[in-house]
Amino acid sequence: MRLLDQWLNELPPSHRILDLGCGPGSLPIKLSGLNVTGVDVDSKTLANNPNPAACAESHNLPFANRSFDLVIAHHTLEHFRDIPGTIREIRRVLKPDGRMFVTVPAGSSFSDRLYRLLLCGGGHFQRFSFESLISQLEGTGLHLAARQDLFSSFLFLAKRNFVSAGPVPRRMRWLGTLPSWSFSFARLFLNLATRAVDGCFATRFSLYGWALAFAPENVSPQVEPGTWNVCMSCGAGFSEPPTERIAWLLYRCPYCSAANYRFPPHRD
Ligand SMILES: [Zn+2]
Repeated sequence: MRLLDQWLNELPPSHRILDLGCGPGSLPIKLSGLNVTGVDVDSKTLANNPNPAACAESHNLPFANRSFDLVIAHHTLEHFRDIPGTIREIRRVLKPDGRMFVTVPAGSSFSDRLYRLLLCGGGHFQRFSFESLISQLEGTGLHLAARQDLFSSFLFLAKRNFVSAGPVPRRMRWLGTLPSWSFSFARLFLNLATRAVDGCFATRFSLYGWALAFAPENVSPQVEPGTWNVCMSCGAGFSEPPTERIAWLLYRCPYCSAANYRFPPHRD
């Protein structure tokens, strides 16, 4: 999101960022070199986090009042059990002029429904609609400053997600016996099919969710172009296809170098 990039570029080195539900570290390229503190309930994932990080629940943060300038919740709110408690804690630890950046799946999207069906919920405890999400997040005292639609590359369709002892329902375990190429084929098919249908009939089958930026000022929110092109290997999304082309219809992902089909600009 352009507004987040602008905020990060202008952030003084002393200003602190809270990576809420950090795992091994959110947005590692964008946040590299910044003053980031992570927090996650899963202590095992913190071992690979390059930043200082605490093990705690999102509704009981081990930080002082007004200690952060920016809170980032990158694909994590849907995993939290206590959203009102989390919002109270974000409000408490943010400085009065602090800001917040959130990405979440749309609870009604085809992508999220398929993910929950195949992975027995997949650890998603929350199912957000846009209006309810904005209403809840403005409980932090902040206002929506920018929004961007995020589209799916159906990255969860990977063999590794069906062969572990993870949350795969018994009726879906047979998927783990399929060859890896069948998952790649399914991902490619869904990427092409959902974008073709959405492009022709103005539907939203390829929608994943939203990126949302919140700031203290109550202004008319910016609407940024959606991430119509999403890497099928690493999940990085682009509102404009990356410029490095491999062939006429293929681009190379600047983050993981994977080849991806290049979708033409999307009309909302
Ligand atoms: Zn990639």
